[in-house]
Amino acid sequence: VSAPSSEAQPRIDDLPALDVEARSARVRAFLETQGLDALAVTTLTNVRWLTGFTGSNGAALITDAELVLITDGRYADQAPTELEAAGVGADVLVMTDPVGGILEAAATCTRLGLEADNISWADQRRLAEQAGALELVPTTDALVALRATKDSGELARIRAAAAITDATLASVRPMLAESPTERDIAFALDQGLRLRGATSPAYETIVASGPNGALPHGRPSERRVQEADLIVIDVGAVVDGYRSDMTRTFVVGEPTAAQQRQLDVVLEAQRAGVATVKAGVDAKTVDAACRDVITDAGWADAFTHGTGHGVGLDIHERPRVNSRTSDVLEAGMVVTVEPGVYLPGIGGVRWEDLLSVTDAGAEVLTTSAKQPVVENTAP
Ligand code: ZN
Ligand code: ZN
Repeated sequence: VSAPSSEAQPRIDDLPALDVEARSARVRAFLETQGLDALAVTTLTNVRWLTGFTGSNGAALITDAELVLITDGRYADQAPTELEAAGVGADVLVMTDPVGGILEAAATCTRLGLEADNISWADQRRLAEQAGALELVPTTDALVALRATKDSGELARIRAAAAITDATLASVRPMLAESPTERDIAFALDQGLRLRGATSPAYETIVASGPNGALPHGRPSERRVQEADLIVIDVGAVVDGYRSDMTRTFVVGEPTAAQQRQLDVVLEAQRAGVATVKAGVDAKTVDAACRDVITDAGWADAFTHGTGHGVGLDIHERPRVNSRTSDVLEAGMVVTVEPGVYLPGIGGVRWEDLLSVTDAGAEVLTTSAKQPVVENTAP
């Protein structure tokens, strides 16, 4: 089985290279602002971002002069190969114990930053016990904040993931008229993503029909899609570690007047939010633009989540796009705008696009049409 040959397949080799090496300089500049001479990176996604290492166990230590990856024996061959492929000049320490590796690599340091949100209680305690004169300093969101702005290689991967998702959704759409179960639809989507070159879905694909759609993150069930159901489909792909995120809502057969209004209001809210996206804008402005439209329609309580989030190596990363955030949009950030209205017992509507923030506004990376009506062809 393969994807239709008429569709272009993204090849990672054809995408612009990731400039992984340049990231160390950005981290070192951060260390200087914090008066740190080293940072222990214990969040796996941050380790990948900094070094290019994709294994399931690793930590990194970065100082003003050195970058050291610590991983276990399973990755003794893979780690140096991946670091070299990423163009990163780093030493690899093969040790089962990351704490020992961090201390060894930080032997000449005086102030060591730790990722306070992502180090285990046990590791922190052992570091504290063995640190001696080395001062341990908690840091929050250091690399996460740096990761928020993407370079051209990262954007190319996210764009490819979005394109794969667009093509996959288009190919699965006709199936909605054939009374499939939610799980049938999710399976077809996941398979379609992989056939088109995705490593995997970007998260557990959401297919929520009828009353199930009132749960923003409903799991695909054995429920069969029926005439007059609203169907929320939230789907994305992974390409070379980078993710996409998109939601479309469908209805089988003619929508009722109430459904049409729900579809229209959320679409108007989503467009209002997208129109505000631009470098320099407070992210909470985007949320307010969406929320105002939904509030005016009388559904303030039915929009139960934040408007969006950053997307990259993680499906939910910085910046935050909600009513409480102090994050400011910058060129190169990739964010979702995804308002929804969820009516218990009735169903949900959500429209979600993935946008790359620019100085002039935004590039919309997810291009699937927002045409909800699927003609009912079931016998
Ligand atoms: Zn989504
Ligand atoms: Zn999302």
